[in-house]
Amino acid sequence: QRMALTIRFDNSYARLPDRFFVRQAPVPVRAPRLVMLNAPLAAELDLDARALAAEGVEMLAGNRLPEGTEPLAQAYAGHQFGGFVPQLGDGRAILLGEVVAPDGRRFDLQLKGAGRTAFSRMGDGRAWLGPVLREYVVSEAMHALGIPTTRALAAVTTGEDVIREAILPGAVLARVAASHIRVGTFQFFAARRDTEALRLLADHAIARHYPQAGGPLDLLRAVIAAQARLVAQWMGVGFIHGVMNTDNTAISGETIDYGPCAFMEGYHPDTVFSSIDAHGRYAYARQADIAAWNLAQLASALLPLIDPDEERAIARATEAIGAFPAHFREEWLSVFRPKIGLATAEDGDAELIHRLLDLMAAERADFTNTFRDLSGGRAGAGLKNRDGFDGWATDWRARLGREGVTQTVATERMRAANPAYIPRNHRVEQVIAAAVGGDFAPFERLVAITARPFDDQPEHADFRAPPAAHEQVRRTFC
Ligand code: AMP
Ligand code: MG
Ligand code: MG
Repeated sequence: QRMALTIRFDNSYARLPDRFFVRQAPVPVRAPRLVMLNAPLAAELDLDARALAAEGVEMLAGNRLPEGTEPLAQAYAGHQFGGFVPQLGDGRAILLGEVVAPDGRRFDLQLKGAGRTAFSRMGDGRAWLGPVLREYVVSEAMHALGIPTTRALAAVTTGEDVIREAILPGAVLARVAASHIRVGTFQFFAARRDTEALRLLADHAIARHYPQAGGPLDLLRAVIAAQARLVAQWMGVGFIHGVMNTDNTAISGETIDYGPCAFMEGYHPDTVFSSIDAHGRYAYARQADIAAWNLAQLASALLPLIDPDEERAIARATEAIGAFPAHFREEWLSVFRPKIGLATAEDGDAELIHRLLDLMAAERADFTNTFRDLSGGRAGAGLKNRDGFDGWATDWRARLGREGVTQTVATERMRAANPAYIPRNHRVEQVIAAAVGGDFAPFERLVAITARPFDDQPEHADFRAPPAAHEQVRRTFC
């Protein structure tokens, strides 16, 4: 049953050969109710927010689809915690189609929690309200922080129960992404030695994300650069992705798949939140190495396209991967320099930044507030080790002096680089608990506050506070 809502779809992925996906309509839900519609994002996509919030809810829940949708579940593979799984695929997400924005940018419109697909295995194809609200608030916060990410267009409840450890309210997230092509999408075809499909996929990814790339090796280089930038940006806000499997690494360079992710509070490089990451594979400070490892998997999948001569292909791919650490170091510096007010480069900058981070790690100082307080000129930035801080600050002020700018300019730089507000883990948990109880006001408030991360918002100062001991979130779940 089609609907009147008109959206301009142009579904380039659905035009790829059949073995790229399985056509699958969302499974209708009993009683869809809109929780939140992202009106600014709808406007960016030239979607009618009023219509979306009215009859569009039927689409956002997957009950009725407008003209132009071609729903499908994408096939992909992936390394999960280092072990290769040749077939994963969208088990609880359905791509409705691609929306082309007025500025020409193309976006996947995908429903997460839309029902079972051919890739669901033992899963129910559903999501409960918790992960839907978590992804909504965290992905939108990431966007506001200036970090490439999939975005949340809407959240709806389904009026159905989802069975996990408990019986929980079901929900669907309508998510928008530059694409959902992953390292694992390439691995899916590489594992099947389907070079023709690999080539089509590489051409598709180039056309969509890196039109300046001349071929597969350029594509690899571009993805390497994008991932180096992305992980550096994560680190700049204390973000821990939590499940950096190759199927959760987007070719576009966007953050994708908000599972057991978390913002670190007390700083320590070894910090891990995910309940399933027993060995700390995806700890905060390991994220760059893991990205390099994931990119090496992309490189091996692309080998047959890089050069018909395998030795030569390996040499070229290895050289490209070898450039990652230098890319990452540059990106890391370009993220962290402004956090301490620097716009120019000096050799000792990395060491200066690491000395501050070491002081923070020694007392697990709050990552967000330490940097924000530094921007506010608060002496000591909240660190307990005052002598340690004063010693560091002497060198820092000398370094700032060599920038040749006023304190006001340095302060403005820092305020633009050091957010006051992130979606703190305990706030996200509180929002979910309230929503399960039927109260969505805390969710709305948290979304509104974290949409302006660099503004002082003194009326919401309590959202800057680290959790009390009993509020602290130590583990997060998929
Ligand atoms: P993720 O941990 O979100 O990256 O998911 C890994 C794989 O498990 C993907 O293929 C998902 O589609 C699948 N999956 C996760 N949860 C479910 C579910 N409730 N039903 C079906 N498939 C699922
Ligand atoms: Mg995933
Ligand atoms: Mg996930």
